[in-house]
Amino acid sequence: MVDKFGRTIEYMRVSITDRCDLRCRYCMPEGCEKVSMSQILTYEEIVRICRVSADLGISRIKITGGEPFVRLGCTGLIREIKSLEGIEEVTVTTNGQTLDKYIEELKDIGIDGINISLDTLDPERYEYITGRGSLEKTLRSIELAASSGIRTKINTIPIKGFNDDEIADMAAMAFRYGIDVRFIELMPLGMADSGIGFSNTEVLKKLKETWPDLEPDGSVHGNGPAVYYKRPGVKGGIGLISAIHGKFCASCNRVRLTSQGQLKPCLSFDLGTDLRPFLGGTDEELREAIRKAICEKPEGHCFDEKDYSSDESAEHRLMSQIGG
Ligand code: SAM
Ligand code: SF4
Repeated sequence: MVDKFGRTIEYMRVSITDRCDLRCRYCMPEGCEKVSMSQILTYEEIVRICRVSADLGISRIKITGGEPFVRLGCTGLIREIKSLEGIEEVTVTTNGQTLDKYIEELKDIGIDGINISLDTLDPERYEYITGRGSLEKTLRSIELAASSGIRTKINTIPIKGFNDDEIADMAAMAFRYGIDVRFIELMPLGMADSGIGFSNTEVLKKLKETWPDLEPDGSVHGNGPAVYYKRPGVKGGIGLISAIHGKFCASCNRVRLTSQGQLKPCLSFDLGTDLRPFLGGTDEELREAIRKAICEKPEGHCFDEKDYSSDESAEHRLMSQIGG
């Protein structure tokens, strides 16, 4: 459907859990509060919201979290959503710690894409940033996904003084596996201080020092706001998602469903419609609530405002609590 600023909203990111097997410092630091399981939408409720949203023109769904694969039965949910009328594409975002167990099933389901998050190629740094993860497991998942024929992307957050010396090494994975590597600017959510983020302008500068032949790639790589670059005759692409230094709100096509059933029209504001009361009513009532929430989508994010962190209307939850 079209929102009040003329944008076509056709993409919904669906968080199925706020739990995770990792503790990335910018997303889910140790000790961060979890929602009680009784507050989390059931799979039946999630499927119903996706089905009703499809009537309004939502045709692409991203399954996310938290870590989607820590919730039992995640692949069954993906299969059900994939079979809904009007849903053209279902993809998933994961940290890759357990993907090896699910890759065959995901292939069988016909999943349309897998995004794997990875911020460093150094085992010690990996353990530091994720609190507890194994780099080896995620690298293995990337290899498995890339060789499975499923569209695979790597998501990397550039962080000053942490991985800014690894930008070219991370990007090189795109050309090694013939996949996309995307650099995502850190957003100042919860405890993530965007001051430690590294701008994509600087990322591009570093990439061009390594590959002077890097050129803009106008072809469509997915649903998102990434601006892509490629090397002539080489498979694989580099995407830059520059929410802070390259505001792309005028072409935003998405809404987010939190694991507790809040439909959030914009990541940066503490705004959203609690869909749970409407789950007790008819499909028409639920559809109307979703339509209204989409209609209320703000014109642009407020991450770039000076007093963002003290602004009461700003989102103060972490990415893992909202759904990344
Ligand atoms: N656990 C899965 C994963 O790591 O891919 C899915 C959920 S995670 C919240 C989704 C994505 O959000 C990850 O790529 C992560 O790096 C990103 N993310 C988390 N906090 C962020 C922040 N403050 N700014 C930008 N991206 C963030
Ligand atoms: Fe977990 Fe993903 Fe957040 Fe890391 S980024 S803590 S893997 S939800």
